[in-house]
Amino acid sequence: MIDRPDRIRCSVFGCRRTAPSAKYPEGTQIICGKCWRLGSKESRAEHTRWKRAQRRYTEGSHAWLACDQRLNRAWAAVCEQASEARVGIG
Ligand SMILES: [Zn+2]
Repeated sequence: MIDRPDRIRCSVFGCRRTAPSAKYPEGTQIICGKCWRLGSKESRAEHTRWKRAQRRYTEGSHAWLACDQRLNRAWAAVCEQASEARVGIG
């Protein structure tokens, strides 16, 4: 595995897809589109819902951070489900 500073690797275990880091703030973790679809519908819907909710608040505000926490939880769930699905694929 080659780590390139200009690319971010998909967070899903076993996935080798990358995205250009220039498109994201520093330290951003990503799940590629392919892996994202391996996550459950519920977790993905949850993520979309909190993402939408978060947009209503000022970045860094208490409500924004609360949304961010739920957003991260849904994101992690998708990541875990996709990792498990990948293991099943082999
Ligand atoms: Zn991936």
